[in-house]
Amino acid sequence: MTPLFVEANSGLFYQQRLCKSRTKKLLPLRMSKRPAILNEILKEAVTLKSSGTRLKAIFDLDSTLFDVSPRITKILHAFAELPEIKAKYRKESELLLTVKPHPEDYGVKRTLARYGFSLSPSAEFAQQLVDYWKKYFFGSDYLFHDVPYEGAVGFVNDLHNAGADIYYLTGRDVPRMQTGSVASLKQWGFPLNEDHANLILKPSTGIEDYNFKKEFFMKMDKTDGSVWFFENEPINIRLVLENCPHIKLVYVDTVHSESEAPPPPQVLRIKGYST
Ligand SMILES: [Mg+2]
Repeated sequence: MTPLFVEANSGLFYQQRLCKSRTKKLLPLRMSKRPAILNEILKEAVTLKSSGTRLKAIFDLDSTLFDVSPRITKILHAFAELPEIKAKYRKESELLLTVKPHPEDYGVKRTLARYGFSLSPSAEFAQQLVDYWKKYFFGSDYLFHDVPYEGAVGFVNDLHNAGADIYYLTGRDVPRMQTGSVASLKQWGFPLNEDHANLILKPSTGIEDYNFKKEFFMKMDKTDGSVWFFENEPINIRLVLENCPHIKLVYVDTVHSESEAPPPPQVLRIKGYST
């Protein structure tokens, strides 16, 4: 039984099932409401499939599909629990253990500032903490703490079932983060090819995320058809916009590095995958 989307209307989607009796029934697939643009992309995937082509949907991971704040929190707690840190910085350790995930957290500095830690580079405690955070944030061990944004798993699966090819394009790198990324995507039920070929990570450390992503899109054939890219970092959006105007963009307005201003208003944006 192959599910096919046949209608998209008012946020309600239906799948067509060929029943044993060979009669066709329309059954409700998903009741969740989504931003209108996501419904339009689903409809486009259905239309393209019926004409023999496939829409390509490319998703960043961190802060695009996944809320990473639980990962940040767990790493800070693990640092605070280290015996040598507890012994040397008892007050700071106790404060760190009160940190809770916050959806606007990005990296570690914003979190630390919220709890009143000094971020001076000369502050030995802060430096040790940041070093520890970097080691584990850019690794596989804590990735399973990430939580998909509400509606993200459903939307990506619906898009996949509607006939789109799904790719994940991330600034994570193969040596440190491939194992955990595969496990995390599987854990949450995101569609992943058996050989993980649709998970595209940086081949090595030391490559800037924005260059990696820009070059990925610049190498894509313009005849690849309809390509949608979902991304939370304004710099990545801008570079794709400037260099690959045929790529259709959705700015996922969650949280970002603040290295530059959000994209101009003509770029489509969503706050999340449900309304
Ligand atoms: Mg991101």
